[in-house]
Amino acid sequence: MPFPDRSQEDTVLWKHSPAYQLLHTTSERDKQKASSSGKPPTTWRKIWKLKAPSKIKHFCWKLYSDCLPNASNLRKRGVLSQRGCPLCRAKEEDSTHTFQRCPFTSETLTRQQLKSFPYQFACMQDLVEFSFDNLEKDQLTKWVITMWDVWRQRNLALREEPIRQPEETATFALNFMSRMANAAFVANQPFSIIENG
Ligand SMILES: [Zn+2]
Repeated sequence: MPFPDRSQEDTVLWKHSPAYQLLHTTSERDKQKASSSGKPPTTWRKIWKLKAPSKIKHFCWKLYSDCLPNASNLRKRGVLSQRGCPLCRAKEEDSTHTFQRCPFTSETLTRQQLKSFPYQFACMQDLVEFSFDNLEKDQLTKWVITMWDVWRQRNLALREEPIRQPEETATFALNFMSRMANAAFVANQPFSIIENG
């Protein structure tokens, strides 16, 4: 399965747009605050220790901070957005929908036997903390890669481009992990072997 190029990464905002600048400024400020406090939150530290490409860790940090540019977050930042979920056409798109309730996501997680979360979390911080505290190492890696890929499929759907079905998304994480292992991935090492592979 080919790996998508960087043009499919997790934002569809033009980088000079007001929305992008707002989100970028907010995320950089929060990141600096966390890293300069002397004692960053445990989950924050765990995210950066994750054995995964830096782009996935960066996504996970955005998920934890709930600063991904979905319709709800854009509205909070003063950017009018009337649209719903690009994956299932639900009326309201926020992070709790995309990463928990959306039928696309829940079917993907069920197929991965990852539907072990005891309840729906009200915020992304709780969801990410629960995952890092309770999932086994491989399960956690699979979950993070899956969330990253769900967000990419959501971005493709937003641009009305073809997306993978949940069963394909479910196997994507496993294939990705297999390629990481085959590439003898070392944490914080440049990921060129896999990205170019
Ligand atoms: Zn949805």
